[in-house]
Formats: sequence, C-alpha cells, structure tokens
Amino acid sequence: MSETSPKLRAELDGIPTYKPGKPAASGGQVAYKLSSNENPYPPLPGVVESAIAAAHNFNRYPDMACTGLMNELADRFGVPVTHLATGTGSVGVAQSLLQSTSGPGDEVIFAWRSFEAYPIITRISGATPVQVPLTPGDVHDLDAMADAITDRTRLIFICNPNNPTGTVVRRAELERFLDRVPTDVLVVLDEAYIEFVRDVDVPNGIGIYRDRPNVAVLRTFSKAYGLAGLRVGFAIAHEPVAAALRKTAVPFGVSQLAQDAAVASLRAEDELIGRVGSLVAERVRVHQSLIKQGWTVPETQANFVWVRLGDRTLDFAAACEEAGVVVRPFAGEGVRVTIGETEANDLFLHVTEAFHKGLQA
Ligand code: PMP
Repeated sequence: MSETSPKLRAELDGIPTYKPGKPAASGGQVAYKLSSNENPYPPLPGVVESAIAAAHNFNRYPDMACTGLMNELADRFGVPVTHLATGTGSVGVAQSLLQSTSGPGDEVIFAWRSFEAYPIITRISGATPVQVPLTPGDVHDLDAMADAITDRTRLIFICNPNNPTGTVVRRAELERFLDRVPTDVLVVLDEAYIEFVRDVDVPNGIGIYRDRPNVAVLRTFSKAYGLAGLRVGFAIAHEPVAAALRKTAVPFGVSQLAQDAAVASLRAEDELIGRVGSLVAERVRVHQSLIKQGWTVPETQANFVWVRLGDRTLDFAAACEEAGVVVRPFAGEGVRVTIGETEANDLFLHVTEAFHKGLQA
C-alpha cells in the first residue's frame, strides 16, 4: 500500500507558528511573566462570580449571537448592534477580517515590526503580506504604507499603539493617511491597547470609523480588562463588513463564560479605570528609569516597553530569566517587556541597570 499524506494547502508551507510568550518558570523560584502583555491583576469584581454561574450550564451551547454582550457593547460604545461582531479574542476577529476580504492574489499591508499574528493569518488566508518597515523611530510609516497600496490591496492593519514598540499614530496623520486609501480597501485600527493611551492626540478609532465605511476598529478584553484566558474580542464596523465578520466567525466560538465575564467586566468600569491608571503610572516609572539608566527607548502608550538590544537580545532575555522575570525577545532586534507587578518591574529594571553598565564596560 503506498503511503501518501493528505494534500494540504501549499500556502501553509513555511508559515511560522505563533510564538506565545514564555510562561514564568516554576519550581519554587520566584518568577514573573512579562512576556505576553497580560494584565497582572486578577479579573475585575463580579467577573469570577458570573463565570461560576455560567459554569452550571456547560451542557448547553453558548448564545451564538452573543446577545447580552452585543447589547452591552452597543450601549457602552454608542454604536448600533448591527455594527458589532465578536470572536475568540481579537485575533479570532482578525482572522474573520481576512476571511471576509482576502484570498490568493490579494495583498494585506501592515507595518513591520508589528503584531506577529498579522503575517501568519494573512498567509493562512492565501493572501500576500506586504510589510512596510517602521520609521527609524519605530513608528508606522504611513506615507510608505499609502505608497504600498495597489489594486490588489484588500486590507490594511494599523496597530495603534503598536505591538511591540508601544509607539502611536496620531489623529492628523491618520486622517491624512485614510484620505489616501481607496474606499474599497478596508483599514483595520487594531486598538488592543487603547485603554492605556494617555496621549490626547491619539484618536479613539470609534470616532474615526463613524464617518468612514472602510474603517473597522478591533478591540479586546484580553489586555486592560484582564480576560486573556477567556478569548473574547470584538470589531466595530459598518455593514456589510460587520455582517461578513458575523458570517465568517467560528459558530459558538465565544463561550457563555467568556460572554458573561465580558459583560461583568464592562460593568466594573470604575475599578478598570483605577487599575489601568496604576499600570500607566508604572509604565511611566519604568520608562523614566530606563531613560535615566541611559537607554534609548521609544515613548510607549501601551502596557509594555520596547528595548532595542540588537545581537545582545537573547543574552539580555537570559539575564532577565535568571533574575526571575520572563520577557519576550525578538532575536537580533530587542525585547518587549510587559508592565507587571511593581516587584516584577523592579527586577527587570535591576537587570537593565546592570546590563547597561556592562555595555559601557
Ligand atoms: N492585537 C494586538 C496588537 C495584540 O498585541 C494582541 C495580543 N497580543 C491581539 C490583537 C490579540 O489579542 P486577543 O486575541 O487576546 O484579543
């Protein structure tokens, strides 16, 4: 009997698998995970209780239309329910965005370096990623991105703030860019970290999408809301884009537990604001300490900092791990370090201090 393996799509060849942030080491040693931009706080008040209540109905499928969550989101953000679509994390919604717009022969533009899922999900869809380098200051090069548009372009991701650099695109430059994008090309404003932004010139995508039918906003409950483990994200977009996202979503993808926890999180707004405020204060402290130590780090508006280390990146990541903090290295480029518990941030700053002295020695 001849052994041939099932035919798989050629597009999958060579696609790197998504690299999750390394978990904190176990084995008794103190270790903090600063590698996945998670929230160090436990779920917001009321969330665990709602999840436990939902657990009693695990024999049932979840509400496929996410009715309660959709209504809550519509109220909270002042958008029609028909402009909403949910998914298994915002990466799940991003995958639906690709399925809805792009296939073989189409092009998807995004900055690079940016969120590492963009090239993966683009290639899974069969479309071609067009990666436009960040400026030397690690900011989106919007002129170059507009220049990269062709008649094959279907989708453009703008990651604001950008993962892993934390840098932002401001209102005037974004509007100028959008004016250059043909109205039949969808622009996705990926705002996974928007709650951490304090720069008043950074636009809230929801204000921008209202007048622009080719703009969609992508949001998540994984970061500020602290529900990374539950996998729930959403998009705000005009019809027919939102309708296409609902059509292409994995049926019953968002569990009832996730839906109810997301609703409870939206209702704990005061506590959310307090926690995000504390994390932002820690971000400012970490950033200022790095500058004082002599590092050149880009201004960050997210819950992480980006430290360029070039060929010392992996050595630095190893030194962090030794000290009890796990960071996210991008070999040859730099490390992305999530703002975590104060003690974790202090451990990281001890390593940067010693490392910087070593660089000068
Ligand atoms: N967008 C950006 C920019 C991200 O950094 C992440 C998470 N790393 C996501 C989307 C996806 O998050 P989730 O799927 O957990 O919502």
